[in-house]
Amino acid sequence: MRLKHIKLSGFKSFVDTTKVSVPNNLIGIVGPNGCGKSNVIDAIRWVMGESSAKTLRGDSMEDVIFNGSAVRKPVNRAYVELVFDNTDGSAPGSYAKFAEIGIRRELTRDGGSKYFINRDRCRRKDIQDIFLGTGLGPRSYSIIEQGMVGRIVESKPEDLRVLIEEAAGISKYKERRRETENRIRHTRDNLSRVEDIIGELE
Ligand code: ATP
Repeated sequence: MRLKHIKLSGFKSFVDTTKVSVPNNLIGIVGPNGCGKSNVIDAIRWVMGESSAKTLRGDSMEDVIFNGSAVRKPVNRAYVELVFDNTDGSAPGSYAKFAEIGIRRELTRDGGSKYFINRDRCRRKDIQDIFLGTGLGPRSYSIIEQGMVGRIVESKPEDLRVLIEEAAGISKYKERRRETENRIRHTRDNLSRVEDIIGELE
């Protein structure tokens, strides 16, 4: 999977619908201070499920919606869409068959947040599952922000291990194991409840 383009509308300073193409493996976004370079990175993190307003440099999640300028009124809705080329079929599971995969997140001022994969409504977890173990994701190492290299060099061994596990592709199996262990625990609880009820009836 390779990111082909990013579409933003009503997101931070991108009030009009804007398409940013990513034609090569290495691209740079340049521009004067405050022109919106970091907002593009915020948009990528947001659509991949980032839930911390602070990480997106705001006080509340509503701060990602264009809040007006000297010449434009605020808008009520923001959306961001990432379109990936999947001609190599590397997307996981049932998504492998699609040549293109579009993931989208929308937010309205009344707090309504929606996620979509290829126009079908989905859960945040479905989007996270697609990227688990690929190095992509809202907090993954594929986005190297200012000061991050220094933080990695100085990080504690257990934090470094998380990064290495994601790069090696094992983190998705650890996540699946955690989910399965939770399900087993719930099933045990249910079984013990059933046994109690049977005991009472006998
Ligand atoms: P620098 O080079 O200084 O790091 P930058 O190009 O990365 O700057 P950003 O931080 O991406 O710039 O964009 C900052 C601009 O985005 C500011 O002008 C700010 O007013 C605008 N902005 C941020 N959130 C919103 C919002 N919700 N509505 C309207 N404009 C916003």
